[in-house]
This record gives sequence, structure tokens and C-alpha cells, in this order.
Amino acid sequence: MRAIAPIAALLLAACSAVAVPSAFAQTPYAGPLFDTHLHYNQEAWDGNTGPYPPAEALARMQRNNVKAIIANSRPNAGTQTLAAARETREAGVTVVPFVRLYRNRDDYSNWFRDETIHEMVQTELARGTASGPYRGIGEFHLYESANANGPVARKLIALAERQKLAVLAHVDDVAIDLLMANAPSKGQSLRLIWAHTGIGGAPIERVQALLERYPLLMGELSYRPGLTCEGGKLCPEWRALLLKYPDRFVVGSDTWVNQRWSAYDEIMRGYRTWLGDLPPDVAQRIAWGNAAALFNLR
Ligand SMILES: [Zn+2]
Repeated sequence: MRAIAPIAALLLAACSAVAVPSAFAQTPYAGPLFDTHLHYNQEAWDGNTGPYPPAEALARMQRNNVKAIIANSRPNAGTQTLAAARETREAGVTVVPFVRLYRNRDDYSNWFRDETIHEMVQTELARGTASGPYRGIGEFHLYESANANGPVARKLIALAERQKLAVLAHVDDVAIDLLMANAPSKGQSLRLIWAHTGIGGAPIERVQALLERYPLLMGELSYRPGLTCEGGKLCPEWRALLLKYPDRFVVGSDTWVNQRWSAYDEIMRGYRTWLGDLPPDVAQRIAWGNAAALFNLR
């Protein structure tokens, strides 16, 4: 027995040497999440009978501790339904409704020049939702940056700033400048949430320059290229950017197709993993606090 004691001691030392890194591994962020990019589109629920009726969608939010959502949908009936649903209240989810500019797929590439969209937005704003008035417009897309200068795009940006509505825009960095230029304040008081913070991977220096130029610009981080590296942790340059601007970023699921609803748990787990890389107060702001402050939630 005595003869093997040193071996046992060695083994013990080896095991604890291996155990040390995992003991110090970051733990995932465990607090509440604000899903700032949620679509409840026609195909997700189909007026109740689709694969993700309200109870199914809300169950996903609830089990991931998603306590608030920016809800928007093609057409707006999805948002209206979530805003009114008993399940929403039971799940403790606050709905922050946005007017979507799309009635159907054709509207994606025409909204910026289609006067009937401008009318639809005004009707919808006047109508409001069971969760209160609309708080923003979007998500909208600009596949060509220059369409930010389309007549209806100009009108809607001016309307958003006037009525203190936030804007959720899936655009490139060039279009950010164009949209901001069309705001009466030249971008100084437009609450613009940049969907994906540039899905085409605008260089990090460019993202930083835009954050500097426009004080109310926020970056939403779904699908952002270059954000995460090995093991789903933040890449170093993005970690540095988030630490430099802890008040300017938010997260979202972007349930633009049903596959994103089926992956909802995984998407939220992914956020929790890299949020765990940040100091707890910064993680809390990006996960929840920045969006909650924008919409005056508790
Ligand atoms: Zn989207």
C-alpha cells in the first residue's frame, strides 16, 4: 500500500492540474434577456395553426428567461396577437411592438418608394396594440444603400424621429449615414438600432466611427460576422469594442424563418456563452439593460 502512495499523489496532482482551467472557466450569463429582434411572421403561426402558435413561441421565451421582446411581423397581425395574448402575460414577457413595413414578401424590395406603406404605417400607429402604442418601426431592409433616399424611406425616418420611435434597420454602413442624414436632427437624435451591426461585416473601425458620430445608434448583434471565435467566445477585437461601448449593443434572435424558432434555445445559449466572457455589469447591460433603458422598462 505504501509503495503506491506516491503514485496516487502524482495522479491526484495531475488531476487537479487538469481541473484548474475548468474551475476558472467563465460561467454563462444567467440573468434576463431582452430579445430585440423578434419576428412573428405568418409562416410561424399562420393565424394560430402554424408550427409555433403563441403558446409555443412564448414557451421558448419563458424557458430562456427572455423577459422582453421587440416584436415585429409580416404582416403586423403576428405582433398584434403576441401583444394581446394571455400566454404573453402568463410568461411574464413584455412586448415592445414595432410596426413592420411588410404586408408580404414583395414589400421587402419596394417599401422605400411605396406610398401605400406610408399609409399602412400611419394606420397601424394610430391603432396601437393591446400592449400599448407602437414604440418603433422595422425591421426593414435596404439591399441597395441608395434606397435610403427613397421618398417613403425619407418620410418614415422623419416620422420616427418626430414621434420618438426607434428604428430597426437591416442595412449596410453606407445606408446608416444616408438614413441619419434624412433625420431632421441629422442623426443626433434618431434612435436607430442597426440590425446585425452590419451583416456584411463592416470593419470594426467603421462600426466604431458610426457609434462615435451618432450618439443614439445601437448595434444589434445577431449574425454579426467576426463576433465570436473558438468555443463561441467573443473574438478579442469585438470584446474590446463591447467593453469600450457597453451602452451601445443589444442582442436578438432574428426569427426570420421557422428554423430560427426551432433553434431558439441554442441561439440564446450562444448569447449566454459569450456574455459570460464580459464583466457582469457589461453583460447585464447588453443582455437586458440597454434595451430596457431605451424603452423605459424596469
Ligand atoms: Zn430580422
